[in-house]
Amino acid sequence: MIREYAIIGGGIGGCSIAALLNAKGHDVVLIEKEPSLGGCASTFSHGGNRYNAGATTISGYHEGGIVRRVFETVGITPDVISTDPAITIIQGDKKCVRYRDLERFIVEVEAFYPHPKHREFWTLVHTLGVAFYSIEGHYYSNRSGFMKIRSLLSLYPILKRFWRYLFGNARDFIIRFYGTVTPEYLDFLDAQILIVAQAKSEKVNFFTAALSLGYTFNETHYPLGGMGAVCTSLTSNIPEILTECEVTAITKDTNIYTLSTSKGTIRCKNLIMGTSHYESSQWFSDPSIKQYYQKYEKLNNHQSAFVLYMTIKTPTQYHHHYQLISDEVLPHTLSKSVFVSFSDPSDSFMAPAGYYRVTASIHTDTRFWTVLSKTQYHDQKKALQNFLQQWICDKLGVQNEEITESFAATPKTFGRYIHRTQLGGNALTLANFLPRLPANDTPIKGLYQVGDTAYAAQGWPGVVMGAFNCMRMINGKH
Ligand SMILES: Cc1cc2nc3c(=O)[nH]c(=O)nc-3n(C[C@H](O)[C@H](O)[C@H](O)COP(=O)(O)OP(=O)(O)OC[C@H]3O[C@@H](n4cnc5c(N)ncnc54)[C@H](O)[C@@H]3O)c2cc1C
Repeated sequence: MIREYAIIGGGIGGCSIAALLNAKGHDVVLIEKEPSLGGCASTFSHGGNRYNAGATTISGYHEGGIVRRVFETVGITPDVISTDPAITIIQGDKKCVRYRDLERFIVEVEAFYPHPKHREFWTLVHTLGVAFYSIEGHYYSNRSGFMKIRSLLSLYPILKRFWRYLFGNARDFIIRFYGTVTPEYLDFLDAQILIVAQAKSEKVNFFTAALSLGYTFNETHYPLGGMGAVCTSLTSNIPEILTECEVTAITKDTNIYTLSTSKGTIRCKNLIMGTSHYESSQWFSDPSIKQYYQKYEKLNNHQSAFVLYMTIKTPTQYHHHYQLISDEVLPHTLSKSVFVSFSDPSDSFMAPAGYYRVTASIHTDTRFWTVLSKTQYHDQKKALQNFLQQWICDKLGVQNEEITESFAATPKTFGRYIHRTQLGGNALTLANFLPRLPANDTPIKGLYQVGDTAYAAQGWPGVVMGAFNCMRMINGKH
């Protein structure tokens, strides 16, 4: 039997495109090497306790948001609840809350980082976000030079409207805008830009920075039952999902792809890769496909994550998300800040009453971990785990004896489980902008790509936008 579409990788990208194709009546098979779906956005069990592997926040599921659109298109409502405040940011003795409401947040930021230009700045951030998400019709193709240029022209309304924010780096723009800013306030902004744009303000334009700073003005959501449950529900109408099925080799004969997997051979007319661009070439034998993927390997910035997982038994009430900011880049990392997420007290699937599951992540470089001997690796992992644990305890008032379980994941851990060490995908930096980035179609017939290393970058909104773009390419509507 020859399948119409095989999708390799059940991350957000693979799940979204599989669900969209299935909803349109196409024959699809979704293949995932792990026992459950989600990849960076999965939920796993450790000693019987459940943890979100990486992603903990859903943005883009607000009324009219792109993530809501994918669920509406496939006719499924995920089990999510609203998160407000979106983040509580702790820097030194300041505790600044990112309320969704613009006016309420301006009062907050003025109290902690007084400056007469906050209203103007944050209103601009808010306005750019609203304006960007109201523009439709743009797409991005990589099928041929002609299609690339044509698709870039579809972005003209964005260029025309926002050109003054597209050139030059965001850091310079911010300093010019405010006149004077303290290094502390710049760190406050940078920490928030980094978790969305995957780069700091000196590497991105102000438009990207504004979209990153402004996402909390839209409603964000908490996934009940864990982030993995959201991917599972998104794909719940798909008749065939193969989990614990690893693809080990892919060949292409004329117009048919043959996948060798741990559960047998699968043949398909169209293949959609939901794996990272930096890993995909290894499975193909066709030299032109290998070359296609290898061309993009130079975009690999080796950025990754170190993640601390904890179970805490405490009567203290915690918000869903905190960001702790330090004065210095933390040892063995690339960042001054850690993002700490708590399970919701009502989420009994994630944790029994009185317990929280915590996922705390910080940016690191893959190479900080891969060059070490076994002993060095173990010692460095333990040192960073202890450091983060103590910092979280100090800043959030957790008692050490309230921690009933604690363990960590490095880039190598992610490599072992989901076949990728670079995490966070392609950052949309000044040096790394659209014409240079891979798209969701390719010059190879029947081969498509989704996920955070392709257009339109990372997180729920970016990856889902890429899945819609992929549908557009498949349907030839451009
Ligand atoms: C620590 C961390 C925190 C984050 N926090 C957030 C957040 O709060 N909110 C947010 O929106 N985003 C967040 N992100 C980003 C977001 O999680 C990712 O951008 C997104 O999940 C990537 O999706 P993807 O489709 O690229 O697939 P991936 O997550 O990369 O999944 C790829 C899948 O392919 C499978 N696979 C690989 N090789 C094979 C093979 N040979 N055969 C079969 N299957 C294979 C893997 O097992 C995996 O499941 C975070 C990321 C990290 C790392």
